[in-house]
Amino acid sequence: MPKKITIHLASPRGFCAGVDRAIEIVKKTIIKYGTPVYVRHEIVHNKYVVEDLKKQGVIFVEDLNEIKDKTRPVIFSAHGVPKSVPEAAKLEKIFFIDATCPLVSKVHREAEQLNKNNFQILLIGHANHPEVIGTMGQLPKNSVHLIETKEEAEFYKHNNKKKLAYITQTTLSVEDTAEIISLLKKKFPEIQGPKREDICYATTNRQLAVKKIAPLCDIIYVIGSKNSSNSLRLVEVAKRSGCKNVFLVDSKEESEIENILECKNIGITSGASAPEKLIHDLINKIKNKNEVEVREIKVANEKVSFKLPKILN
Ligand code: SF4
Repeated sequence: MPKKITIHLASPRGFCAGVDRAIEIVKKTIIKYGTPVYVRHEIVHNKYVVEDLKKQGVIFVEDLNEIKDKTRPVIFSAHGVPKSVPEAAKLEKIFFIDATCPLVSKVHREAEQLNKNNFQILLIGHANHPEVIGTMGQLPKNSVHLIETKEEAEFYKHNNKKKLAYITQTTLSVEDTAEIISLLKKKFPEIQGPKREDICYATTNRQLAVKKIAPLCDIIYVIGSKNSSNSLRLVEVAKRSGCKNVFLVDSKEESEIENILECKNIGITSGASAPEKLIHDLINKIKNKNEVEVREIKVANEKVSFKLPKILN
């Protein structure tokens, strides 16, 4: 007899406006300029998306030096790039299109403005993430000090006469970041922050949604790739919100459905760079052997969309 299972489907989940735009930029560039099209770094951190674009004629590189045919268009990924990258492309007369998410560009502009106004900038974020490299790379070396943890905030010493300000990566844990900011504010009451917070709407909403389903679930699958910052944060938030068994999976193939026969309540969500198709594939796989009721739990309506660069219109 098939087993009765309830799937608690978090909403919002999956693609955000910045990811949608970045993928659209690649597709429109292929239509307008033909293939191959180069993309510097994974356009978004998702294995499925990257493999699919490779099949359509995209060559992914980590560095402009790897580009064999410099007459072909190059796209910069949604995570943003240090200023040195477009500068180098211009020097080499490489035609490039920037797919940096406008919400990441907003943080870049904040950093530039603060630097212009002689602030010491603290960037809350994860070392080596391309977004952090891109944001730090908007300014001369050592203009931005990276804070990764509460401990680092606690021990930070402000050794110069500059005023102090903080900015953040867009895909952080809302709760962890709030704790770091509150610590910094306690230590440095004069510290300034962005007018509108830097953690983006998509990150915030996906975390709120998984928080809501976590207490109802025996197991949660977060669909997303291992290098996707916002997906990793969803795993942490789900665990912290009451579900012990939380797995980050790239696709249905990685979900060991056979092992969850004891589970009556399965939660599913996906990171901002994971296509909805992967969600449906996983649900269908569970439906294969079980009697399934899908309950979608919605915590926000998202109506954000971003314009494409003019050159592609
Ligand atoms: S997660 Fe946020 S910052 Fe990143 S691409 Fe999506 S909307 Fe932009």
